[in-house]
Amino acid sequence: MFKGRIYPLRPPRTSPISGVIDLHAHSTASDGSLSPTALVARAAECGLGAIALVDHDTTAGVAEAQAAAAEFSLELVPGCELSAEFGTGELHLLGLYLDPLSPALAQALGELRTARHARNRIIIDKLKALGARIDYETVLRLAGDGAVGRPHIAQALVESGFVQTRQDAFNRLIGNGGKAYAPKTVFSPAEAIRLLKAAGASVMLAHPGLLHMAPKSEEALIDELVGHGLDGIEAIYSEHTPAQTDRLLALARRKGLIVSGGSDFHGSAKPHIELGCGRGSLTVPDAVLDAIKARRREQGLPV
Ligand code: AMP
Ligand code: ZN
Ligand code: FE
Ligand code: FE
Repeated sequence: MFKGRIYPLRPPRTSPISGVIDLHAHSTASDGSLSPTALVARAAECGLGAIALVDHDTTAGVAEAQAAAAEFSLELVPGCELSAEFGTGELHLLGLYLDPLSPALAQALGELRTARHARNRIIIDKLKALGARIDYETVLRLAGDGAVGRPHIAQALVESGFVQTRQDAFNRLIGNGGKAYAPKTVFSPAEAIRLLKAAGASVMLAHPGLLHMAPKSEEALIDELVGHGLDGIEAIYSEHTPAQTDRLLALARRKGLIVSGGSDFHGSAKPHIELGCGRGSLTVPDAVLDAIKARRREQGLPV
């Protein structure tokens, strides 16, 4: 039944907690370490009532996750995470409840994955020029059928012995602005939101706290994104401080935005983040999903 590796992750919490969900998880369809089936199995073990699968630039894991979810009587929210232009970096958008088979979305995501290959080759050429013995075939093998990106390149660098850890690879070479960095092709926020909404999604600004903005600029950004159709914000997130969470919850309330919440679980690719509880204290109550569904029903959208 388990198609992916469970260990070397920590064993999940032994006593299932009821009424808790996680609307931000990745699988091997992008850069997570658990297959969609193993991810759902782990969510069930953790006692979660629902998870959203939001792989980067792909919905390829959704069908498998849905089949597993039916087996484990767990609710699976189909989704994906898209990057969009933001200053010199990027912001992330989550599309929840999208149609994973939407042709327009499939075409756009396909183009993103093709652009990723070109970008990965540029990064690898830069790494070779710096003396790394690394080739793209190894990176592709590590990525399996998933959307290929820097986490896989980091893994290949570790395996080649050029760096000690994946984090070293990011810190010294392929992190934003690093010596071997190359930018990724991404949509504008307006295009990304339009695309996700055209596929039926409710669109959330992912982990706003990671943008490290002053509250006023953050609010201005959210207003701008709402103008493009943004539905809500991921106020509850593994790396948000309690103060950030409170501020974002208050902002959502004030503006009538939907609230989302999740861990950003990647399995052993991000070992400090556990499904359903993040760094240990994350709790996303199922009322969060109830509110998302209620808003979708008001909008005449399926849940
Ligand atoms: P890509 O989409 O190929 O640009 O890869 C983005 C992913 O790389 C993110 O989702 C993170 O998992 C990882 N990443 C990006 N920057 C860093 C960093 N400075 N340290 C560790 N991981 C990073
Ligand atoms: Zn990721
Ligand atoms: Fe993200
Ligand atoms: Fe994520």
